[in-house]
Amino acid sequence: MIDTITLKKPFDAHVHLRRGAMLRAVTPITAEKFSRAIVMPNTDPPIETVEQAAEYKKEILAAIPRGDASRFEPLMTLYLTKNLTPAEIEKAAGSGVYGVKYYPWGATTNSQWGYQNILEAKDVLKKMEGVGLPLLLHGEVHVDERNEEVDPYRGEQTFIKGILPELLTSYPKLKVSLEHASSAEAVDFIEKNGKEGRLVATITVHHLLYDRGDAEPRPLLRVKPLIKERSNRDKIRALVKKGLPFVSAGSDSAPHPESKKFATTAAFGIFSAPVAVELYTQVFDELGCLDKLENFLSVNGPRFFGLEPSSETITLVKKDWQVTEPVVTDEGVKVWPIYHKDMGLGNETIHWQIKK
Ligand SMILES: [Zn+2]
Repeated sequence: MIDTITLKKPFDAHVHLRRGAMLRAVTPITAEKFSRAIVMPNTDPPIETVEQAAEYKKEILAAIPRGDASRFEPLMTLYLTKNLTPAEIEKAAGSGVYGVKYYPWGATTNSQWGYQNILEAKDVLKKMEGVGLPLLLHGEVHVDERNEEVDPYRGEQTFIKGILPELLTSYPKLKVSLEHASSAEAVDFIEKNGKEGRLVATITVHHLLYDRGDAEPRPLLRVKPLIKERSNRDKIRALVKKGLPFVSAGSDSAPHPESKKFATTAAFGIFSAPVAVELYTQVFDELGCLDKLENFLSVNGPRFFGLEPSSETITLVKKDWQVTEPVVTDEGVKVWPIYHKDMGLGNETIHWQIKK
């Protein structure tokens, strides 16, 4: 039995750090566990210029303990709003911007500025293809071409079948990352069409852990894309077990204040930063593929963005622990992570921990 594993320091290909007090509370956690992270731009207001991205990056770096910015690098992205121009894309390439994030209109937290259909953003996509700036996809359809609402459990499948093939054919050199793949259809598509440097996918820890029955009644597990029936989870598990070079970890850690997460209609987003590395390790251990963990967590992600993996390492040991406290911001707001022993499935125990 393996009970210790040392890895290059992980890379989070998808994280939400928010702004202000929330940012100050969650950034140190991500910075402790990850060497770099692709930071999502769906703040309010959204990040849609190179200048705004640079300002946002400064705010993140200021929140790292002891100002030790050499230990964690936030990699910035722009939001594909209708205001984003090809000229801004030109400027972004080589200015510390690593991708452009697409959110379908109305899909999730602060997604009201996006296009309903990504294919409408022709000039921007052409420019991104030209300069090699990756497109990060929230690949779901919420309202179809007849303006009818799509079943939220089928939104990703609809995107995979109806839009993604045309996007890939229309822009044959565009670098595309399908974020938080959550369905059997997404897994099949990636397995068949994935290619290093061209089409990759990120996988969250919550889509590896839970199924619809776990998630539906629990506000803490309310997230887009929705957590689906168990057969989908098992397909995602089988995918990561294959150790493909175009599949990597993207936690999609997305904190919300307690008041929003436990509101009558809970905000979408799972806060996993405090436990993601440990839980990915746990799942890979359960699957008997710890030998695939380092590439998934630490190598495949940076490679897609043209970066070397971290030269630092972390060591995990097999030792049980529980999350007993929420994270609390400097304004006294509680933020509940998944796997909290009282707020999740109940008495959840994590079997791996990072050695201090
Ligand atoms: Zn996200």
